[in-house]
Amino acid sequence: MIEVKEAHTAVIVVDVQGDFTFCNQGSLAVEGTDQAYVDCVEAETRRLKALGYPVFATQDWHPHNHMSFFSNHEGKSAFDTISVNDGIQVLWPPHCIQDTENARVLVDNTLFESIVQKGMDPQYDSYSGFFDDGGHRTGLEDQLRDRGINKLIVYGLTTDYCARATALDARSLGFEVVLIKQLCRGVAEETTRAALEEMAAAGVSVL
Ligand SMILES: [Zn+2]
Repeated sequence: MIEVKEAHTAVIVVDVQGDFTFCNQGSLAVEGTDQAYVDCVEAETRRLKALGYPVFATQDWHPHNHMSFFSNHEGKSAFDTISVNDGIQVLWPPHCIQDTENARVLVDNTLFESIVQKGMDPQYDSYSGFFDDGGHRTGLEDQLRDRGINKLIVYGLTTDYCARATALDARSLGFEVVLIKQLCRGVAEETTRAALEEMAAAGVSVL
């Protein structure tokens, strides 16, 4: 008998948090994140969960003194950039501060196997759900491997930063990745377009 190895698929809902949405007057709200968007993400997540896919969330979870906040850099404004060890860091308005209301994941939390937090180290940003910019693991990969997962369905916020980084890292870790574009929103049009191209070039199936 030939054993057919079926794909073991999980869902990753990236950073659908108050501070990234207009419906919660988020400090870093991105275009197209009204209540209808959040409801749509929740409905699709519920549907995928009902189909039997384990669902994970990622959550930006920063301390007050996080390096990605412009307010922690003398004389800098929101969306300025600075050079860091390995490249360019965009400086953001303070967002997703630990234990604040707008750091909450907006999708029904009972749908998730776990909520993987990232960006807790004040020294490093962490767009990716897998590693921070210092290369420290979040634990997401281990949780997926423990369940024998080899394929991921990814969506959330934002297309050009955290969904992009999570999808690209997943590819480099050997996962098959499907990105559901309709359930993602980007910070800016140009970087969103570039991110979609980059993901497709890395073998992400963009749906
Ligand atoms: Zn952040």
